[in-house]
Amino acid sequence: MFKKILVANRGEIALRIIRAAREMGISSVAVHSTADSDAMHVRMADESVCIGPASGTESYLSIPAIIAAAEITGADAIHPGYGFLSENASFVQALQDHDIGFIGPTAEHIRLMGDKISAKDTMKALGVPCVPGSTGGVPDVESALKIGKEFGYPVIIKATAGGGGRGMKVANSAEEMATAFSSARSEGKAAFGNDEVYIEKYLTTPRHIEVQVFGDGKGAAVHLGERDCSLQRRHQKVFEEAPGPTIRADERASIGKVCADAVAKINYIGAGTIEFLYENGEFYFIEMNTRLQVEHPVTEAIFGVDLVREQIRVAEGYSLSFSQENLAINGHAIEVRINAETFPDFLPRPGKINAYHAPGGLGVRMDSALYDGYVIPPYYDSLIGKLIVHAPDRPAAISRLKRALDELIIDGIETTIPLFHALLEEEDVYSGNYNIHWLEHWLEHTFEEK
Ligand code: ADP
Repeated sequence: MFKKILVANRGEIALRIIRAAREMGISSVAVHSTADSDAMHVRMADESVCIGPASGTESYLSIPAIIAAAEITGADAIHPGYGFLSENASFVQALQDHDIGFIGPTAEHIRLMGDKISAKDTMKALGVPCVPGSTGGVPDVESALKIGKEFGYPVIIKATAGGGGRGMKVANSAEEMATAFSSARSEGKAAFGNDEVYIEKYLTTPRHIEVQVFGDGKGAAVHLGERDCSLQRRHQKVFEEAPGPTIRADERASIGKVCADAVAKINYIGAGTIEFLYENGEFYFIEMNTRLQVEHPVTEAIFGVDLVREQIRVAEGYSLSFSQENLAINGHAIEVRINAETFPDFLPRPGKINAYHAPGGLGVRMDSALYDGYVIPPYYDSLIGKLIVHAPDRPAAISRLKRALDELIIDGIETTIPLFHALLEEEDVYSGNYNIHWLEHWLEHTFEEK
Protein backbone atom coordinates (compact mmCIF):
# COMPACT_ATOMS: atom_id res chain seq x y z
CA MET A 1 0.00 0.00 0.00
CA PHE A 2 1.21 3.48 -0.82
CA LYS A 3 1.33 5.88 2.13
CA LYS A 4 2.49 8.92 0.21
CA ILE A 5 2.22 9.91 -3.45
CA LEU A 6 4.10 12.66 -5.23
CA VAL A 7 2.14 14.41 -7.97
CA ALA A 8 4.47 15.42 -10.82
CA ASN A 9 2.12 17.95 -12.34
CA ARG A 10 0.23 21.21 -11.74
CA GLY A 11 -3.18 22.76 -12.32
CA GLU A 12 -6.50 20.94 -12.30
CA ILE A 13 -5.00 17.48 -12.87
CA ALA A 14 -2.76 17.81 -9.81
CA LEU A 15 -5.88 18.59 -7.73
CA ARG A 16 -7.68 15.62 -9.29
CA ILE A 17 -4.92 13.26 -8.12
CA ILE A 18 -4.51 14.84 -4.66
CA ARG A 19 -8.27 14.43 -4.13
CA ALA A 20 -8.24 10.74 -5.08
CA ALA A 21 -5.24 10.10 -2.84
CA ARG A 22 -6.86 11.85 0.12
CA GLU A 23 -10.02 9.77 -0.22
CA MET A 24 -7.85 6.65 -0.10
CA GLY A 25 -6.03 7.82 3.03
CA ILE A 26 -2.81 8.45 1.09
CA SER A 27 -0.93 11.68 1.75
CA SER A 28 0.22 13.83 -1.15
CA VAL A 29 3.29 15.80 -2.14
CA ALA A 30 2.98 18.67 -4.60
CA VAL A 31 5.98 19.79 -6.62
CA HIS A 32 6.08 23.26 -8.10
CA SER A 33 8.15 25.79 -9.97
CA THR A 34 8.97 29.19 -8.48
CA ALA A 35 6.15 30.63 -10.65
CA ASP A 36 3.64 28.30 -8.98
CA SER A 37 4.37 29.00 -5.28
CA ASP A 38 0.81 30.32 -4.87
CA ALA A 39 -0.85 27.66 -6.99
CA MET A 40 -3.82 25.72 -5.66
CA HIS A 41 -2.11 22.33 -5.94
CA VAL A 42 0.58 23.55 -3.56
CA ARG A 43 -2.07 24.71 -1.10
CA MET A 44 -4.11 21.54 -1.34
CA ALA A 45 -1.37 18.92 -0.99
CA ASP A 46 -0.12 17.74 2.39
CA GLU A 47 3.44 18.76 1.55
CA SER A 48 5.14 20.67 -1.22
CA VAL A 49 8.61 20.96 -2.72
CA CYS A 50 9.90 23.68 -5.03
CA ILE A 51 11.70 21.91 -7.86
CA GLY A 52 13.03 24.73 -10.01
CA PRO A 53 12.46 27.93 -11.96
CA ALA A 54 9.39 28.83 -14.00
CA SER A 55 10.44 27.13 -17.22
CA GLY A 56 8.80 23.70 -17.51
CA THR A 57 12.01 22.14 -18.77
CA GLU A 58 13.78 23.09 -15.57
CA SER A 59 10.95 22.13 -13.21
CA TYR A 60 8.01 19.88 -14.16
CA LEU A 61 10.12 18.17 -16.82
CA SER A 62 13.26 17.82 -14.71
CA ILE A 63 13.66 14.14 -13.88
CA PRO A 64 16.50 14.65 -11.33
CA ALA A 65 14.59 17.41 -9.52
CA ILE A 66 11.44 15.30 -9.26
CA ILE A 67 13.28 12.20 -8.10
CA ALA A 68 15.11 14.27 -5.48
CA ALA A 69 11.76 15.64 -4.27
CA ALA A 70 10.35 12.11 -3.98
CA GLU A 71 13.41 10.95 -2.03
CA ILE A 72 13.43 13.93 0.34
CA THR A 73 9.73 13.51 1.16
CA GLY A 74 9.79 9.71 1.23
CA ALA A 75 7.10 9.31 -1.41
CA ASP A 76 6.31 5.70 -2.35
CA ALA A 77 5.13 6.47 -5.86
CA ILE A 78 4.65 9.22 -8.44
CA HIS A 79 1.53 10.06 -10.43
CA PRO A 80 2.49 11.99 -13.58
CA GLY A 81 -0.98 13.28 -14.59
CA TYR A 82 -1.08 14.07 -18.32
CA GLY A 83 1.48 15.96 -20.40
CA PHE A 84 4.90 16.69 -18.84
CA LEU A 85 6.57 13.34 -17.96
CA SER A 86 3.47 11.15 -18.27
CA GLU A 87 4.66 9.39 -21.42
CA ASN A 88 8.39 9.57 -20.84
CA ALA A 89 9.87 6.06 -20.75
CA SER A 90 13.26 7.26 -19.40
CA PHE A 91 11.46 8.82 -16.43
CA VAL A 92 9.71 5.53 -15.65
CA GLN A 93 13.03 3.70 -15.98
CA ALA A 94 14.75 6.19 -13.65
CA LEU A 95 12.01 5.75 -11.04
CA GLN A 96 12.46 2.00 -11.19
CA ASP A 97 16.21 2.43 -10.67
CA HIS A 98 15.48 4.54 -7.58
CA ASP A 99 12.87 2.10 -6.29
CA ILE A 100 10.04 4.62 -6.56
CA GLY A 101 6.67 3.41 -7.87
CA PHE A 102 5.14 4.82 -11.05
CA ILE A 103 1.37 5.13 -11.32
CA GLY A 104 1.08 4.23 -14.96
CA PRO A 105 2.27 1.62 -17.44
CA THR A 106 5.76 0.15 -17.83
CA ALA A 107 8.62 1.95 -19.61
CA GLU A 108 8.44 -0.75 -22.27
CA HIS A 109 4.77 -0.12 -23.07
CA ILE A 110 5.27 3.64 -23.09
CA ARG A 111 8.13 3.24 -25.55
CA LEU A 112 6.18 0.84 -27.73
CA MET A 113 3.17 3.15 -28.02
CA GLY A 114 5.17 6.40 -28.07
CA ASP A 115 6.57 5.52 -31.43
CA LYS A 116 3.63 5.64 -33.83
CA ILE A 117 5.07 3.10 -36.25
CA SER A 118 5.72 0.46 -33.57
CA ALA A 119 2.34 1.27 -32.00
CA LYS A 120 0.57 0.70 -35.29
CA ASP A 121 2.50 -2.52 -36.02
CA THR A 122 1.68 -3.82 -32.55
CA MET A 123 -2.01 -2.96 -32.81
CA LYS A 124 -2.30 -4.45 -36.27
CA ALA A 125 -0.75 -7.69 -35.01
CA LEU A 126 -3.24 -7.68 -32.11
CA GLY A 127 -6.19 -7.48 -34.49
CA VAL A 128 -7.00 -3.78 -34.06
CA PRO A 129 -8.20 -2.15 -37.33
CA CYS A 130 -5.76 0.50 -38.65
CA VAL A 131 -5.78 3.27 -41.28
CA PRO A 132 -4.49 1.84 -44.58
CA GLY A 133 -0.99 3.07 -45.36
CA SER A 134 2.71 2.34 -45.53
CA THR A 135 4.18 -0.65 -43.75
CA GLY A 136 6.61 0.99 -41.38
CA GLY A 137 8.72 4.05 -42.15
CA VAL A 138 9.02 5.72 -45.56
CA PRO A 139 12.65 6.63 -46.34
CA ASP A 140 12.36 9.06 -49.27
CA VAL A 141 10.05 11.03 -51.57
CA GLU A 142 10.21 8.37 -54.32
CA SER A 143 8.83 5.72 -51.95
CA ALA A 144 6.29 8.25 -50.69
CA LEU A 145 5.06 8.89 -54.23
CA LYS A 146 4.66 5.14 -54.80
CA ILE A 147 2.53 4.89 -51.67
CA GLY A 148 0.48 7.91 -52.73
CA LYS A 149 -0.25 6.19 -56.02
CA GLU A 150 -1.10 2.89 -54.36
CA PHE A 151 -3.54 4.29 -51.76
CA GLY A 152 -4.80 7.32 -53.67
CA TYR A 153 -4.73 10.97 -52.56
CA PRO A 154 -5.13 12.66 -50.17
CA VAL A 155 -2.58 11.05 -47.84
CA ILE A 156 -1.13 12.23 -44.54
CA ILE A 157 2.58 12.08 -43.74
CA LYS A 158 3.17 11.60 -40.02
CA ALA A 159 6.30 11.80 -37.90
CA THR A 160 6.60 8.54 -35.97
CA ALA A 161 7.63 10.49 -32.86
CA GLY A 162 4.94 13.17 -33.36
CA GLY A 163 2.40 14.31 -30.80
CA GLY A 164 0.09 17.18 -29.92
CA GLY A 165 -0.89 17.58 -33.56
CA ARG A 166 2.67 18.33 -34.67
CA GLY A 167 4.67 16.51 -37.32
CA MET A 168 1.72 15.82 -39.62
CA LYS A 169 1.26 17.09 -43.18
CA VAL A 170 -1.42 16.36 -45.77
CA ALA A 171 -0.58 15.87 -49.44
CA ASN A 172 -3.64 16.29 -51.68
CA SER A 173 -1.83 15.22 -54.85
CA ALA A 174 1.51 13.91 -56.11
CA GLU A 175 2.55 17.54 -56.73
CA GLU A 176 2.21 18.34 -53.03
CA MET A 177 4.13 15.26 -51.88
CA ALA A 178 7.71 16.55 -51.92
CA THR A 179 6.91 19.63 -49.81
CA ALA A 180 4.61 17.79 -47.39
CA PHE A 181 7.10 14.95 -47.00
CA SER A 182 10.07 17.14 -46.21
CA SER A 183 8.15 19.44 -43.89
CA ALA A 184 6.72 16.50 -41.85
CA ARG A 185 10.27 15.18 -41.62
CA SER A 186 11.87 18.41 -40.51
CA GLU A 187 9.06 19.10 -38.04
CA GLY A 188 9.58 15.63 -36.56
CA LYS A 189 13.30 16.25 -36.31
CA ALA A 190 12.97 19.75 -34.82
CA ALA A 191 10.20 18.98 -32.32
CA PHE A 192 10.93 15.37 -31.39
CA GLY A 193 14.50 14.69 -32.51
CA ASN A 194 13.41 11.97 -34.94
CA ASP A 195 12.83 12.48 -38.65
CA GLU A 196 11.29 9.08 -39.44
CA VAL A 197 7.87 9.40 -41.09
CA TYR A 198 5.13 7.08 -42.31
CA ILE A 199 2.15 7.57 -44.57
CA GLU A 200 -1.57 6.94 -44.15
CA LYS A 201 -4.62 7.43 -46.28
CA TYR A 202 -6.09 10.78 -45.23
CA LEU A 203 -9.70 10.30 -44.16
CA THR A 204 -11.75 13.32 -45.18
CA THR A 205 -14.83 13.22 -42.90
CA PRO A 206 -14.02 11.08 -39.85
CA ARG A 207 -15.12 11.46 -36.27
CA HIS A 208 -12.56 11.09 -33.47
CA ILE A 209 -13.61 8.16 -31.31
CA GLU A 210 -11.39 6.89 -28.51
CA VAL A 211 -11.81 3.81 -26.37
CA GLN A 212 -10.88 3.88 -22.68
CA VAL A 213 -9.13 0.72 -21.58
CA PHE A 214 -7.80 -0.43 -18.24
CA GLY A 215 -5.42 -3.30 -17.58
CA ASP A 216 -4.20 -4.91 -14.35
CA GLY A 217 -0.78 -5.86 -15.74
CA LYS A 218 -1.55 -9.54 -15.16
CA GLY A 219 -3.43 -10.28 -18.33
CA ALA A 220 -6.86 -8.94 -17.38
CA ALA A 221 -8.32 -5.82 -19.00
CA VAL A 222 -11.65 -4.10 -19.53
CA HIS A 223 -12.93 -1.31 -21.73
CA LEU A 224 -15.04 1.62 -20.56
CA GLY A 225 -16.70 2.47 -23.82
CA GLU A 226 -15.79 5.38 -26.03
CA ARG A 227 -15.56 9.16 -26.03
CA ASP A 228 -16.33 11.27 -29.07
CA CYS A 229 -13.83 14.14 -29.28
CA SER A 230 -14.57 15.27 -32.83
CA LEU A 231 -14.89 18.97 -32.04
CA GLN A 232 -11.24 19.99 -32.40
CA ARG A 233 -9.29 23.08 -33.27
CA ARG A 234 -5.78 22.57 -34.63
CA HIS A 235 -6.00 18.91 -33.61
CA GLN A 236 -6.73 19.98 -30.03
CA LYS A 237 -9.95 18.71 -28.47
CA VAL A 238 -12.32 21.35 -27.09
CA PHE A 239 -15.59 19.48 -26.42
CA GLU A 240 -15.75 15.79 -25.50
CA GLU A 241 -18.62 13.48 -24.74
CA ALA A 242 -19.47 9.95 -23.75
CA PRO A 243 -21.01 7.84 -25.05
CA GLY A 244 -20.37 8.78 -28.70
CA PRO A 245 -23.67 10.05 -30.13
CA THR A 246 -23.30 7.97 -33.30
CA ILE A 247 -21.94 4.74 -31.82
CA ARG A 248 -24.41 1.86 -31.49
CA ALA A 249 -24.29 -0.52 -28.51
CA ASP A 250 -23.19 -3.45 -30.69
CA GLU A 251 -20.36 -1.38 -32.26
CA ARG A 252 -19.26 -0.30 -28.78
CA ALA A 253 -19.22 -3.87 -27.52
CA SER A 254 -17.23 -5.17 -30.48
CA ILE A 255 -14.58 -2.44 -30.77
CA GLY A 256 -14.37 -2.35 -26.95
CA LYS A 257 -13.67 -6.07 -26.87
CA VAL A 258 -10.99 -5.80 -29.58
CA CYS A 259 -9.27 -3.05 -27.53
CA ALA A 260 -9.56 -4.79 -24.15
CA ASP A 261 -8.29 -8.07 -25.61
CA ALA A 262 -5.35 -6.27 -27.25
CA VAL A 263 -4.16 -4.63 -24.02
CA ALA A 264 -4.80 -7.79 -22.02
CA LYS A 265 -2.58 -9.72 -24.39
CA ILE A 266 0.39 -7.41 -23.79
CA ASN A 267 -0.21 -7.36 -19.98
CA TYR A 268 -0.82 -3.63 -20.06
CA ILE A 269 -1.16 -2.00 -16.64
CA GLY A 270 -3.26 1.03 -15.81
CA ALA A 271 -5.35 3.45 -17.86
CA GLY A 272 -4.90 3.78 -21.60
CA THR A 273 -6.77 5.27 -24.52
CA ILE A 274 -6.91 3.74 -27.96
CA GLU A 275 -7.72 6.48 -30.45
CA PHE A 276 -9.59 5.86 -33.69
CA LEU A 277 -10.87 7.79 -36.62
CA TYR A 278 -14.39 6.59 -37.40
CA GLU A 279 -15.83 6.91 -40.88
CA ASN A 280 -18.70 5.09 -42.63
CA GLY A 281 -19.14 2.68 -39.77
CA GLU A 282 -15.47 1.64 -39.66
CA PHE A 283 -12.88 2.22 -36.93
CA TYR A 284 -9.27 3.04 -37.86
CA PHE A 285 -6.60 3.05 -35.13
CA ILE A 286 -4.39 6.17 -35.05
CA GLU A 287 -2.57 6.05 -31.72
CA MET A 288 -2.60 4.87 -28.13
CA ASN A 289 -2.09 7.21 -25.19
CA THR A 290 -0.53 5.43 -22.23
CA ARG A 291 -1.85 7.76 -19.54
CA LEU A 292 -4.91 9.37 -18.02
CA GLN A 293 -6.52 11.78 -20.49
CA VAL A 294 -7.77 15.31 -19.97
CA GLU A 295 -11.27 14.13 -20.90
CA HIS A 296 -11.41 11.12 -18.53
CA PRO A 297 -14.20 12.68 -16.39
CA VAL A 298 -16.90 12.02 -19.00
CA THR A 299 -16.11 8.30 -18.78
CA GLU A 300 -16.10 8.48 -14.97
CA ALA A 301 -19.51 10.14 -15.06
CA ILE A 302 -21.31 7.58 -17.20
CA PHE A 303 -19.70 4.52 -15.59
CA GLY A 304 -19.66 5.83 -12.01
CA VAL A 305 -16.01 4.91 -11.48
CA ASP A 306 -12.97 6.81 -10.19
CA LEU A 307 -10.24 6.20 -12.77
CA VAL A 308 -7.47 7.79 -10.71
CA ARG A 309 -8.30 5.65 -7.70
CA GLU A 310 -8.19 2.62 -9.99
CA GLN A 311 -4.80 3.71 -11.39
CA ILE A 312 -3.42 3.91 -7.87
CA ARG A 313 -4.90 0.53 -6.93
CA VAL A 314 -3.43 -1.37 -9.87
CA ALA A 315 -0.07 0.34 -9.31
CA GLU A 316 -0.21 -1.05 -5.77
CA GLY A 317 -0.67 -4.50 -7.25
CA TYR A 318 -4.43 -4.99 -6.77
CA SER A 319 -6.68 -6.50 -9.40
CA LEU A 320 -9.25 -4.31 -11.14
CA SER A 321 -12.16 -3.43 -8.88
CA PHE A 322 -14.67 -3.84 -11.73
CA SER A 323 -15.26 -6.48 -14.38
CA GLN A 324 -16.62 -5.98 -17.89
CA GLU A 325 -20.00 -7.40 -16.80
CA ASN A 326 -20.55 -4.88 -14.05
CA LEU A 327 -19.61 -1.85 -16.13
CA ALA A 328 -22.81 -0.30 -17.44
CA ILE A 329 -23.43 3.08 -19.03
CA ASN A 330 -25.70 5.47 -17.20
CA GLY A 331 -26.76 8.58 -19.11
CA HIS A 332 -24.64 11.02 -21.08
CA ALA A 333 -21.73 13.29 -20.13
CA ILE A 334 -20.08 16.26 -21.85
CA GLU A 335 -16.86 18.09 -20.99
CA VAL A 336 -15.79 21.49 -22.28
CA ARG A 337 -12.21 22.71 -21.97
CA ILE A 338 -11.93 26.31 -20.82
CA ASN A 339 -8.73 28.07 -21.81
CA ALA A 340 -7.24 31.43 -20.84
CA GLU A 341 -7.48 32.60 -24.44
CA THR A 342 -9.29 35.27 -26.39
CA PHE A 343 -12.28 34.31 -28.51
CA PRO A 344 -12.54 33.98 -31.49
CA ASP A 345 -8.78 34.47 -31.97
CA PHE A 346 -7.54 31.97 -29.37
CA LEU A 347 -4.58 34.11 -28.24
CA PRO A 348 -3.20 33.16 -24.81
CA ARG A 349 -4.09 35.82 -22.24
CA PRO A 350 -3.07 34.73 -18.76
CA GLY A 351 -3.53 37.20 -15.93
CA LYS A 352 -5.20 37.85 -12.62
CA ILE A 353 -8.52 36.27 -11.69
CA ASN A 354 -10.59 38.97 -10.00
CA ALA A 355 -13.51 36.72 -9.27
CA TYR A 356 -14.16 33.02 -9.75
CA HIS A 357 -17.44 31.28 -9.21
CA ALA A 358 -17.82 27.61 -10.11
CA PRO A 359 -21.21 26.28 -11.19
CA GLY A 360 -22.86 23.56 -9.11
CA GLY A 361 -26.01 21.52 -8.77
CA LEU A 362 -27.00 18.05 -9.86
CA GLY A 363 -24.70 16.47 -12.43
CA VAL A 364 -22.18 19.33 -12.58
CA ARG A 365 -18.43 18.93 -11.96
CA MET A 366 -15.92 21.74 -12.31
CA ASP A 367 -12.28 20.67 -12.30
CA SER A 368 -10.16 23.79 -12.00
CA ALA A 369 -7.28 25.14 -9.93
CA LEU A 370 -8.54 28.74 -10.11
CA TYR A 371 -9.39 30.87 -7.09
CA ASP A 372 -10.20 34.54 -6.42
CA GLY A 373 -7.04 36.63 -6.78
CA TYR A 374 -5.00 33.86 -8.45
CA VAL A 375 -2.54 35.07 -11.07
CA ILE A 376 -2.26 32.60 -13.96
CA PRO A 377 1.42 32.36 -14.89
CA PRO A 378 2.26 32.69 -18.60
CA TYR A 379 4.61 29.70 -18.78
CA TYR A 380 2.28 26.74 -19.10
CA ASP A 381 -0.69 25.29 -20.95
CA SER A 382 -3.67 27.63 -21.28
CA LEU A 383 -6.22 25.10 -19.94
CA ILE A 384 -7.70 26.64 -16.79
CA GLY A 385 -10.73 24.51 -16.19
CA LYS A 386 -12.92 21.67 -17.33
CA LEU A 387 -16.66 21.83 -16.92
CA ILE A 388 -18.27 18.40 -16.98
CA VAL A 389 -22.00 17.74 -16.94
CA HIS A 390 -23.85 14.45 -16.58
CA ALA A 391 -27.55 13.91 -17.29
CA PRO A 392 -29.91 11.06 -18.21
CA ASP A 393 -29.56 11.68 -21.95
CA ARG A 394 -27.75 13.90 -24.48
CA PRO A 395 -30.41 16.65 -24.80
CA ALA A 396 -30.59 16.92 -21.00
CA ALA A 397 -26.78 17.06 -20.81
CA ILE A 398 -26.76 19.94 -23.31
CA SER A 399 -29.40 21.86 -21.30
CA ARG A 400 -27.41 21.25 -18.15
CA LEU A 401 -24.20 22.43 -19.82
CA LYS A 402 -25.90 25.65 -20.91
CA ARG A 403 -27.24 26.24 -17.44
CA ALA A 404 -23.83 25.53 -15.83
CA LEU A 405 -22.01 27.81 -18.29
CA ASP A 406 -24.45 30.59 -17.37
CA GLU A 407 -23.51 30.17 -13.70
CA LEU A 408 -19.76 30.08 -14.30
CA ILE A 409 -17.91 33.33 -13.57
CA ILE A 410 -14.23 33.81 -14.43
CA ASP A 411 -13.62 37.50 -14.12
CA GLY A 412 -10.43 39.42 -14.92
CA ILE A 413 -9.18 37.53 -17.96
CA GLU A 414 -10.56 36.50 -21.33
CA THR A 415 -11.55 32.85 -21.68
CA THR A 416 -13.02 30.51 -24.27
CA ILE A 417 -16.38 30.36 -22.43
CA PRO A 418 -18.04 32.40 -25.27
CA LEU A 419 -17.01 29.63 -27.70
CA PHE A 420 -19.27 27.18 -25.87
CA HIS A 421 -22.19 29.61 -25.60
CA ALA A 422 -21.95 30.03 -29.37
CA LEU A 423 -21.50 26.32 -30.10
CA LEU A 424 -24.55 25.38 -28.07
CA GLU A 425 -26.68 27.54 -30.37
CA GLU A 426 -25.69 25.42 -33.36
CA GLU A 427 -28.12 22.86 -34.76
CA ASP A 428 -25.27 20.53 -35.74
CA VAL A 429 -23.99 20.49 -32.17
CA TYR A 430 -27.48 19.68 -30.90
CA SER A 431 -27.88 16.84 -33.33
CA GLY A 432 -24.29 15.59 -32.97
CA ASN A 433 -23.80 16.02 -36.70
CA TYR A 434 -20.09 16.79 -37.10
CA ASN A 435 -16.71 15.39 -38.00
CA ILE A 436 -13.18 16.43 -36.99
CA HIS A 437 -13.20 19.38 -39.44
CA TRP A 438 -16.56 20.86 -38.46
CA LEU A 439 -15.27 23.23 -35.77
CA GLU A 440 -12.54 24.79 -37.94
CA HIS A 441 -15.00 25.31 -40.82
CA TRP A 442 -17.57 26.78 -38.49
CA LEU A 443 -15.03 29.17 -36.94
CA GLU A 444 -13.96 30.27 -40.41
CA HIS A 445 -17.50 30.88 -41.65
CA THR A 446 -18.88 32.41 -38.51
CA PHE A 447 -16.07 34.66 -37.40
CA GLU A 448 -13.43 35.19 -40.04
CA GLU A 449 -15.57 36.34 -42.92
CA LYS A 450 -17.13 39.18 -40.97
P1 ADP B 1 -1.11 13.45 -32.23
O1 ADP B 1 -0.28 12.39 -31.57
O2 ADP B 1 -0.29 14.59 -32.72
O3 ADP B 1 -2.30 13.84 -31.46
P2 ADP B 1 -2.76 11.69 -33.92
O4 ADP B 1 -2.19 10.59 -34.72
O5 ADP B 1 -3.51 11.34 -32.69
O6 ADP B 1 -1.60 12.76 -33.62
O7 ADP B 1 -3.69 12.57 -34.86
C1 ADP B 1 -4.23 13.79 -34.39
C2 ADP B 1 -5.35 14.24 -35.28
O8 ADP B 1 -4.91 14.37 -36.64
C3 ADP B 1 -6.52 13.29 -35.35
O9 ADP B 1 -7.41 13.47 -34.27
C4 ADP B 1 -7.12 13.72 -36.68
O10 ADP B 1 -7.81 14.94 -36.50
C5 ADP B 1 -5.92 13.98 -37.55
N1 ADP B 1 -5.49 12.77 -38.28
C6 ADP B 1 -4.51 11.89 -37.94
N2 ADP B 1 -4.41 10.88 -38.84
C7 ADP B 1 -5.33 11.12 -39.80
C8 ADP B 1 -5.75 10.44 -41.00
N3 ADP B 1 -5.17 9.31 -41.41
N4 ADP B 1 -6.76 11.00 -41.73
C9 ADP B 1 -7.35 12.14 -41.34
N5 ADP B 1 -7.01 12.82 -40.22
C10 ADP B 1 -6.02 12.33 -39.46
